[in-house]
Amino acid sequence: MRNIFFALALTLITINLFGQVKKRNNKIVTENIVVAHRGAWKKNVLPENSIASLKQAIALKCAGSEFDVGMTADDSLVINHDPTYNNLPIEKTNYTDLIAFKLSNGEKLPTLREYILAAKKKNKTTKLICEIKPSVISTERGKVIATKAVKLIQELKARQRVIYISFDYEILKQIVAIEPKASTQYLKGDISPEQIKADGISGLDYTISAFKKHPEWIESAKKNNVILNAWTLDKVEDMDWAIANGFDYITTNEPELLIEKTKK
Ligand code: MG
Repeated sequence: MRNIFFALALTLITINLFGQVKKRNNKIVTENIVVAHRGAWKKNVLPENSIASLKQAIALKCAGSEFDVGMTADDSLVINHDPTYNNLPIEKTNYTDLIAFKLSNGEKLPTLREYILAAKKKNKTTKLICEIKPSVISTERGKVIATKAVKLIQELKARQRVIYISFDYEILKQIVAIEPKASTQYLKGDISPEQIKADGISGLDYTISAFKKHPEWIESAKKNNVILNAWTLDKVEDMDWAIANGFDYITTNEPELLIEKTKK
């Protein structure tokens, strides 16, 4: 009888240990404050927002790799910065018609699912900075895009890897409404940290000029545990300014340069 109890206890401990290992494997531990804007594309002349640029950001161990999400006419979530792709308006074109055109490196226009799955491979350091683009068609459609993205990220068990960003405040509020623990940052630069916190948004991701217009927002963000991120800082003096002001993240097209700087 005692042996049976012993075996049972051992089994439970083993299951618990494996569970913890599994959990830890899904967690991202960042090693710097560098967010590669549209992936790390510039230095190696890769297409922006490509899986190749995401993989390069992961290879560099950037804290984050940013990308832009839009939705096709037939409801596919695709990764592209502009509202058009090869002169086709994404929101009014079907997925199969868009992917007839390849990216400059021969890659297919990635879907959000493909992007997330690529980010889960051999990656313990790089978060996904997922920008939900406002819909050109309507605010409501923007919220639908956000909801579909959150659901997909939940389905792929990637929620701990993702920070959502948007210029559309309603999109961020929608994300928090369906996933209260989601990490979110607002891009437009016109809302104070106090209001951001009151609305359940996690951070500010503003231009350097927005912060210079409201220097008091930096201190108040820190006081209110609101994350500070700035875009897009490619000049050394701007990087130095954000580092000196204790920013949590810096978004840049020059991740290699910023990594070198923050090592010192
Ligand atoms: Mg973007």
